[in-house]
Amino acid sequence: MEPQKLDLCNEIIKTCLKMESSGINQGTSGNLSARYKNGFLITPSSLPYNEMSPEDIVEMNWNGEYLGKQPSSEWRFHRDILKSRNDINVVLHCHSINATAIACHEKDIPAFHYIVGIAGGKNIRCANYATFGTQELADNVILALKDRLACLISQHGMICLGKTLKDAFFLGCEVEAISKMYVKTLSIGNSPILSDEEMHKVIQQMKRMSYGKGPEPEGSNDIAKPKSE
Ligand code: 13P
Ligand code: ZN
Repeated sequence: MEPQKLDLCNEIIKTCLKMESSGINQGTSGNLSARYKNGFLITPSSLPYNEMSPEDIVEMNWNGEYLGKQPSSEWRFHRDILKSRNDINVVLHCHSINATAIACHEKDIPAFHYIVGIAGGKNIRCANYATFGTQELADNVILALKDRLACLISQHGMICLGKTLKDAFFLGCEVEAISKMYVKTLSIGNSPILSDEEMHKVIQQMKRMSYGKGPEPEGSNDIAKPKSE
């Protein structure tokens, strides 16, 4: 295997193991893909992550033709997202408990907390239900992900997108934490929702601060050298 592909396969497996150890996924549920050459690399179907080796990761092209093991049953939504979104390179899907609990009620996550904006908009939508692995499901998630980096999937789970594997994993953990907060919030009753105007400000602020991306490289510190608005 060529070194560039080997590195990416190893990074995919490492991220899958982190999905498991962080608790956002378990067993053989969930799947992960990353853009590669004229197509993408994707986890194989139904293989436990702790048994996965680089040779098990499947290379696919945009026509759905593949080399190696049987690809994830969800390759259609991975393909359609990667093909239609040039702002991201990674698609992460999992059945994390709290996000899935909300998805089982077919509910969007509204702006009950400012952090919802981390997925790119005023809410995190819930895609309509369709049988797993179908083109109908792929079409539904494309709609729910419009201008967003994450969505829930009715009676199923969630999807998070990222420029890198690290970004997608970070967002997966955030969406699960937001979902847990929302479930807890709902247990006290319906809560107020931040206005569209406030969420617009939140998203601008997050962009300005590269929120969640870690510290800026040395010498580019916004706090030390304030920029005029
Ligand atoms: P795969 O093992 O085929 O990737 O399926 C897991 C899953 O989450 C289906 O939605
Ligand atoms: Zn699934």
